[in-house]
Amino acid sequence: MFTQDQPRLRNWINGQFVDVIAAGSEHAGKTIPVTSPYNARVIGHVPLSTAADVADAVAAAQAAFPAWSSRTIKDRTAILIKFHSLLTKHVDQLADMVVLEHGKNKAEAIASVLKGQETVEYALSLPQVVQGKMLEVSRGITCYDTRVPLGVIASVVPFNFPVMVPMWTLPIAIAMGNTMVLKPSEKVPFTMTKIVELLKEAGLPDGVVNLVHGTADAVNALIDHEDVKAVTFVGTSHIAEMVSQRCHKLNKRVLALGGAKNHMISAPDRNLEMTSTDVVNSYSGCSGQRCMAATVLLTIGHQQELVDKIVAKSEALRPGSKAGEVGPVIDQASVDKITRYINEAEASGARILVDGRPWTKNQSEGFWVGPTVILHTNKQDAALHDEIFGPVLSILAVDTAEEALAIENANPYGNAACIYTSSGATADHFIKRFSAGMCGVNIGVAVPREPFSFGGWNKSRFGNHCDITGDGGVEFFSMRRKVTTKWVPQEGASWMS
Ligand code: NAD
Repeated sequence: MFTQDQPRLRNWINGQFVDVIAAGSEHAGKTIPVTSPYNARVIGHVPLSTAADVADAVAAAQAAFPAWSSRTIKDRTAILIKFHSLLTKHVDQLADMVVLEHGKNKAEAIASVLKGQETVEYALSLPQVVQGKMLEVSRGITCYDTRVPLGVIASVVPFNFPVMVPMWTLPIAIAMGNTMVLKPSEKVPFTMTKIVELLKEAGLPDGVVNLVHGTADAVNALIDHEDVKAVTFVGTSHIAEMVSQRCHKLNKRVLALGGAKNHMISAPDRNLEMTSTDVVNSYSGCSGQRCMAATVLLTIGHQQELVDKIVAKSEALRPGSKAGEVGPVIDQASVDKITRYINEAEASGARILVDGRPWTKNQSEGFWVGPTVILHTNKQDAALHDEIFGPVLSILAVDTAEEALAIENANPYGNAACIYTSSGATADHFIKRFSAGMCGVNIGVAVPREPFSFGGWNKSRFGNHCDITGDGGVEFFSMRRKVTTKWVPQEGASWMS
């Protein structure tokens, strides 16, 4: 039933691949097909882990915790140094896996692996940056603090960055002495199975990192397991909120990143060429399947020249898997959702300046929607407000800076926002007023590179209010132990006297 071309995936528990048993469940033996978005070809089958499978993975992580957490941080990061060089060696192979299962073009896939590697680099610096404080707080009384790992961490990741998003949590979590059970997205389950093999090759002890495949049941079983001490989640906002609430009820530490609707504001003094190129890269790069993609452009006043250039650059884009080409979206449900938003905007009077709908194919031939540029007149259009997660740009002309800011501030998400301008004063004005955690000046994908932490605000982030990488990650993946010491003077009792 499962051929070499269409393997059935296995969980990775205690340093080896094991079959999912799905014991005591109607899921026993059931799998979900994994398709390549380029051509809809089935490339594998994901099993649905249940509480019993999750319990095996958590038991392995729990058993590995005492030995792993008692090693020094230098010792732990030494393994990550080897892992980093293995990532470099395998970057091309990993990128090919990302292209196949996710649909990014090759250049985007390579960049995504390298971005993941940056967080590994941050983790390598932790022995230099996580020392605690020490102070004589009263005469003869000294306080110091140390960072203590939490235990078993559950990490649940989305489909859109099969390597990079897992690397937001895994390296920092394990460098800080935790062990982990990670659940890849059922839509892109392959790449992480290679990563865990590389971790083993680097010398990571069995059980420190485990993988379980599946969907909601596996996630809920992870959250509910009493030995799981903290949960990270990245995905859509409504599930992020559910995960966060479930963890809060159990008094569990949780960081749940959600979706986004990011705005770009073009001031009249923006650089025409740079802005048009950047806007097109932002909305169409990775086929718009980035939480940092900016998909609403608010021009202050009518900026016909800018709109014309955006249209020309969008029309020049071609479908494909090479650098500069636009790949497919993840599945047919995504094609249907994207085209529905375009249709609705058109019906409400918006002009479709560039139409990606003709790229769609019969669903047995792949999941394609081309770059689309919509010029809105109706501020209520759903495409202006909802996360579409495809290569669709909504343009709306507003009269003033205040109107632009009011629209940006009213959106419930808070991941990213960008101002295009040639004036420092204008840039400062907007940056201080945006309601987003990651802001750009003339950069439409304002991802804060390490050592700056990644994380949005509002409905783009639920749970404990730390960022997910950088010092936010260190805070999330450790507890501070405070120690107060007093040595009682024993006059004349010293062995030195
Ligand atoms: P998703 O919410 O559908 O799935 C994310 C994960 O949750 C997957 O592993 C999935 O198996 C699991 N899941 C699915 N249903 C569940 C349920 N009912 N209960 C618990 N877990 C469940 O998200 P996706 O479509 O894979 O990813 C795209 C979304 O992720 C977009 O909204 C995007 O903006 C967001 N995202 C956000 C960030 C960020 O930093 N804020 C980064 C990347 C992606």
